[in-house]
Amino acid sequence: MNLKQRDKKHLWHPLTQHKLHPETIAIIKANECVLTDEDGNEYIDAIASWYTCMYGHCNDYITSRVSTQMQQLDQVVFSGFTHEPAIKLSEALMEILPENQNKIFFSDNGSTAVEIGIKMALQYHFNNEQKRNTLIAFEDGFHGDTFGAMSVSGLSVYNGPFKDFFLNVKRIPVPNGENNDTILNTLQHIVSNNKVAGFVYEPLVQGATAMKMHDIKGLNEILKFCKKHNIITVADEVMTGFGKTGKHFASLYVETKPDIICLSKALTGGLLPMALTTCSQKIYDAFYSDDMSKGLFHGHTYSANPLACTAALASIELLQSDDIQNNIQTIIASHQTFGNSIKTHHKVKSIRQLGVIFALDLNIEMERYGNLRDKLFKFFMDNGVFLRPLGNTIYIQAPYVITKNQLEKVYQVIKDALEII
Ligand SMILES: *Cc1c(COP(=O)(O)O)cnc(C)c1O
Repeated sequence: MNLKQRDKKHLWHPLTQHKLHPETIAIIKANECVLTDEDGNEYIDAIASWYTCMYGHCNDYITSRVSTQMQQLDQVVFSGFTHEPAIKLSEALMEILPENQNKIFFSDNGSTAVEIGIKMALQYHFNNEQKRNTLIAFEDGFHGDTFGAMSVSGLSVYNGPFKDFFLNVKRIPVPNGENNDTILNTLQHIVSNNKVAGFVYEPLVQGATAMKMHDIKGLNEILKFCKKHNIITVADEVMTGFGKTGKHFASLYVETKPDIICLSKALTGGLLPMALTTCSQKIYDAFYSDDMSKGLFHGHTYSANPLACTAALASIELLQSDDIQNNIQTIIASHQTFGNSIKTHHKVKSIRQLGVIFALDLNIEMERYGNLRDKLFKFFMDNGVFLRPLGNTIYIQAPYVITKNQLEKVYQVIKDALEII
């Protein structure tokens, strides 16, 4: 039996209805931008394995640093102990994060990073003796699959069984440049009728919502409104963080900075699972007290795992290198050229781009996980490119180290797909 067949016996995959989608592909190797399956087929990883491996798979620099660290210190409790990899990582992050961020709290995936952001926002008010029990979030956002994260996610088509257990969340539309007044009126209405603790949002690009992009100025107006009402702003940069938007963080495009930032995915360059929730001094100070119960009593066993910290540190060094920064600029320009070459195609409804994130909507109505979407996916894979269309959106978020030829192949396969769909 091959891996694909053995997989069926015991494994239950994420986001999968196994009766409708019994097929899996067994990957035995990943190198730079290429995945190899057990039959020897190769695929260009044009979405960097859910935007994690931005410096290429099995990156030599990251793996060798982690390999050295493995001989020195593998894991230690982070409550009461500390270590150099975590300290160095905090110092490196402070150089690149928006300047108001000052403290870092560790966890191990994007959902928990958001969960912690929500808890910080709620407890911030609790510690200040204010009962605030409502959160604001964008329509159609995605923040993860744990309960708090599901609650603030608007993409809830699959959350039906849990709806009765969600936190109290009010929704606003994303700013599109024309609806600012409407949004501000809605916000005013929400704060008049609720005690709002926080606003959780994906800045500028909503990833799982098929890379929907919104207006910088409009977002800034919302953040200013939140500041005015002491609503804690939680930027979920799990997807947008670490260079994807062309800047190190999407929040750097926006004048008003968030109180809290959630990070994961590309944080470790895809090598190990880790997440961070960073915050300003103001948030931290609300927890700093002689009163034990005002502390943030949240902790994960693998908090600040030294190996993951080392992978993150090496990744940030790469992000800041001239090579990677140049690659980012090259990819941005290359996507622009590609976008211009297809935007008038009759099957293309619209294109959008921010940094290395490129998306196009097809002029065809498609279900998020429907047959047409599956046909497209299969076409890409049969042609050696791993792209994962979301409904009628095809998006690219390739590793920064993708070569010119590989990128040309990705573009060509998308162009060919327009002819068969
Ligand atoms: C992926 C993602 C999450 C959830 O992260 P996990 O590590 O999958 O739990 C949260 N927010 C955003 C914006 C994401 O893209």
